[in-house]
Amino acid sequence: MAFPAPRRSSGPRVVVVGAGVIGLCCALEIARGGGAVTVIDADAAPASLRIAPRAAAFAAAGMLGAFSEALHEGPGHHRRLSDLCWEGLKSWRTLVASDPELSGFVRFNGALLLAHDEADAARVSRAADRAKRHGAPYEKFEGLPPGLDGRLYGAKVKLSVRLPGEGAASVEPTLARLAEMALSFGASIVREREVVEVAASNDRVSGVHLDDGGALPADIVVLATGALAPASLVAGCVALQRLTPAKGMLGGAPAPQAFDLAETVRTPRIYFGREGEQIFFGATSEPGRADLDADPEAIAALHLEVRRTLPGARFDLATTVLSVGLRPLSPDGAPLVGRTGPDGLIVAVGHGRNGWLLAPVTGVAVAALASGVDPAPVWRDFTPDRFA
Ligand SMILES: Cc1cc2nc3c(=O)[nH]c(=O)nc-3n(C[C@H](O)[C@H](O)[C@H](O)COP(=O)(O)OP(=O)(O)OC[C@H]3O[C@@H](n4cnc5c(N)ncnc54)[C@H](O)[C@@H]3O)c2cc1C
Repeated sequence: MAFPAPRRSSGPRVVVVGAGVIGLCCALEIARGGGAVTVIDADAAPASLRIAPRAAAFAAAGMLGAFSEALHEGPGHHRRLSDLCWEGLKSWRTLVASDPELSGFVRFNGALLLAHDEADAARVSRAADRAKRHGAPYEKFEGLPPGLDGRLYGAKVKLSVRLPGEGAASVEPTLARLAEMALSFGASIVREREVVEVAASNDRVSGVHLDDGGALPADIVVLATGALAPASLVAGCVALQRLTPAKGMLGGAPAPQAFDLAETVRTPRIYFGREGEQIFFGATSEPGRADLDADPEAIAALHLEVRRTLPGARFDLATTVLSVGLRPLSPDGAPLVGRTGPDGLIVAVGHGRNGWLLAPVTGVAVAALASGVDPAPVWRDFTPDRFA
């Protein structure tokens, strides 16, 4: 097969494997820096699909929840993930400021965290503490913030925290725009080709082998394969062997009339967002499940939380599964980003529940690595060899 050559050819030849949100942000930043980038993805382009592509990026809610992540911290959690998440949010602001079109799809409309009992209050307070430590805006209230309709949220809210700086992206148009931006900097994107192996000689990357028997030469290969790398690729890369797929689903319901969800609403067990006339909520999490079957029963299990969190909303909760995806989960829930294996091989995987939030900051780090520079110091704790 003849590949569309990247229009930029002065910098190193870079192949990015995977056009999920991580691969696209890596391609964008490497191309912006002058690299000759080709992105390869096994799936067809979304616009030509009747079914959703497999990438977790398409299944996601697109929340940019830098401090909300604290709701989920527990034993084994990476101790510096909250620092990275904060960098992730800042990086989205920089990216959106650089591209007016993106600002139509990515909004910073804030999040409202609700606690209904003592255990949740501890988690919600932890999110506020994180925001305070980073100098980010937050407000903490006994009960609901003033002005909110108590009939909608119910009387049982013990504590709430408002995080006005958090955001959310509309996933499909944002992914499309990220791809356009990468193309505008000279990258090319090849679809429906799977990379089955990274080629190397004298301990240096020389290119990739494809499922159709073809090959593409490269000086640098970036693996941004999420939880979807084929076994042949996993066998040759220790970092990919650290990952477990964690199946996740979003449920949806038509927005009840006169129901205004101006910000993301979260508890430690559920979140709600609005996309047009639809309310979506999620997400389920089943570590170890690697199938993409829609499972209405798992969504129905969230309905109790829907009613508990927004008791006045009167949702029509026919069990709609909006999306299914596989989160690439590392042993400590944090990404693996850095050099590994032969010279020229870089991995950017394992973003778990935070792949959207961390995509632009990962792209900037990988672009630095691709040009031979160390990424920002915050990345020192997220190298792929930390589990060795
Ligand atoms: C239900 C759900 C809700 C979520 N909500 C959020 C959220 O609100 N906020 C947030 O920050 N994160 C969220 N996430 C997590 C986020 O979606 C993931 O962390 C993120 O999508 C990972 O991006 P990725 O690019 O690494 O992988 P993916 O998006 O899975 O993309 C990987 C791509 O690589 C391609 N690929 C793999 N191997 C090869 C190969 N060998 N050759 C060619 N192509 C290959 C695949 O076809 C795929 O397109 C959610 C996830 C799920 C499932």
